[in-house]
Amino acid sequence: MKIPFVDLHAQYLSIKEDIDQAIATVIAESAYIRGRFVAEFEKKYAETYGVKHCVSCADGTSAIYIVLKMLGIGPGDEVITTANTWIASSETVTQCGARPVFVDVEEDFYNIDADKIVAKITPRTKAIIAVHLLGQPAQIDKIKAICDVHNLLLIEDCAQAHFATYNGQRVGTFGVAGTFSFYPGKNLGAYGDAGAIITNDDELAKRCKIFASHGASPVNKHDHVMEGINSRMDGLQAAILLAKLPHIGDWTQKRQAVAKRYNELLQGNPHILSLPVVRENASHVYHVYSVRVKNRDKMQAHLNANGVATSIHYPTPLPFLQAYRYQENEPADFPIAWRNHKEMLSLPIFPEMTDEQIQRVAQVLSEA
Ligand SMILES: *Cc1c(COP(=O)(O)O)cnc(C)c1O
Repeated sequence: MKIPFVDLHAQYLSIKEDIDQAIATVIAESAYIRGRFVAEFEKKYAETYGVKHCVSCADGTSAIYIVLKMLGIGPGDEVITTANTWIASSETVTQCGARPVFVDVEEDFYNIDADKIVAKITPRTKAIIAVHLLGQPAQIDKIKAICDVHNLLLIEDCAQAHFATYNGQRVGTFGVAGTFSFYPGKNLGAYGDAGAIITNDDELAKRCKIFASHGASPVNKHDHVMEGINSRMDGLQAAILLAKLPHIGDWTQKRQAVAKRYNELLQGNPHILSLPVVRENASHVYHVYSVRVKNRDKMQAHLNANGVATSIHYPTPLPFLQAYRYQENEPADFPIAWRNHKEMLSLPIFPEMTDEQIQRVAQVLSEA
């Protein structure tokens, strides 16, 4: 039995009629770029999140860039983020002309360690990008309190955490803005690239929308009130996301059920150093189910040889990527991220995963 890391086709088949209909309607109306489906998606997404604005854009990376840029982050500024995330969370800081400053991760939750943030704040620090990695909320109340005390902007990268909550509040609504990716493999995935920004700040929403569309004035598209970029959501992606949005609650529960089953089956496995732990008062939406294992590379090869696809989130912590060599970061400054990158292994997880598939993964893990 071969077990894929994610199975996008299984999900398509489960809602095929709705998706096919959505795509056909967009084509019938030639509503390819922006248009009514995009407007409707923005409205629904903002409503679902209980926020005033959703500004759609081309992908989750430009969502972060647009927000940073419209918040005025620029040369001379520093933006704090986590040592373990996808490079989108930090390359966008550099794209604004600012410097990303990395903070080590927590022992148990793989997110930025709030207790290590204050030591990295300087007079140049302007913002914190909190990433809710793997689908687990970061310690966002504490991070927000730090931002309040030090007068910093809080941006939440929710690319892996659609509809995750902390103290009953959805992540993405704690800071000035939350950014989302709808990359196909994400918990809410389009059939291509797509992204969005959510915010309750009227002025920020307006500026982001203008910037994402070549700086064109909302009332006269040939009147460019600033220079912007081209970062638009396709009508097809919006229609597909609209068809998928009603299912996200069910899909999230199914991911959580897969995680629960893994926890039961993997408990006591001698190769495993740690299973995922859920933060108190948080809901984990399991974009990724990552364990720490002994001899990780050998275990990954063993799983692969037995038809189980796996991944690593991420093989190199950001401070040690070639792109950040200029920062001369030392492993001793990021002990947990440094330890984790050699031990973390992400197992297959997707809502449509069958119990047979879950059992097979657990079995192969125990036979190593
Ligand atoms: C996927 C991802 C992004 C970027 O999203 P794209 O849509 O691929 O540009 C940003 N941050 C994190 C943590 C991600 O996982």
